[in-house]
Amino acid sequence: QLSNRLLKVASFIPKGAFFADIGSDHAYLPCYVCQKDNTAEAIAGEVNEGPYQSALQTVRTHDLIKKVDVRLGDGLQVIKDAEKVEHVVIAGMGGSLIETILEEGKSKLIHTKQIIAQPNIDARSVRRWLDDNGFTITNETIVEENGHVYEIMAASAGQQDKTPYQESIKERQLLFGPILLENKTNSFYNKWKHERSKLERVIMQMRQAKQKDEIKISLFEKELQWIEEELQ
Ligand code: SAM
Repeated sequence: QLSNRLLKVASFIPKGAFFADIGSDHAYLPCYVCQKDNTAEAIAGEVNEGPYQSALQTVRTHDLIKKVDVRLGDGLQVIKDAEKVEHVVIAGMGGSLIETILEEGKSKLIHTKQIIAQPNIDARSVRRWLDDNGFTITNETIVEENGHVYEIMAASAGQQDKTPYQESIKERQLLFGPILLENKTNSFYNKWKHERSKLERVIMQMRQAKQKDEIKISLFEKELQWIEEELQ
């Protein structure tokens, strides 16, 4: 059984999709999707030999060699130029790594209709990259599992008229998630209570430091204030 987190990610992949799962590790996600939907096909990309071998193993065990193509390579480089991969999944990594993978592999995204991302931390970097590169967030969800809170976002290409951002509060929306902000769930509150404590500690330490970075402190204080406001 797939984790709740990956089940949510899978729920954004439409029937019959040809998709790439970058950083697939055991290839649990593509195997699950392709087993449930025999019209779906996937590329499972891995940069590390160990996870690549695990992915091959899972694919063989589930007899999905014709459906899930496991490839060793960095980020989006596993996608061939002529391949019409319409959905790209990048899950279970930090936001800045996801951002780097997207930025470095931009040329492979010409046929991409949807990017599904699940950053473990720093979702803001991913939202910013998506917004700067013509992908509009159409869906966001937040799930809790084993004491962790995960944000999952789906963004579509070329729907700039549907942008969920409002210029005056855009920075706030990038931090919390434009759609998550509209419908705050218990998991949202749990995540941001936790982030509040972390940020309070960081600010306290920064204030006690010999050399104070006042600009950074005031930036963090502004963020803390946003968190306080959203938690009310
Ligand atoms: N996507 C799976 C999930 O959400 O459960 C696995 C997440 S696992 C924590 C992250 C995986 O990303 C690791 O297996 C790692 O080898 C892989 N990875 C890290 N950087 C990568 C890159 N630049 N290209 C492809 N895979 C990468």
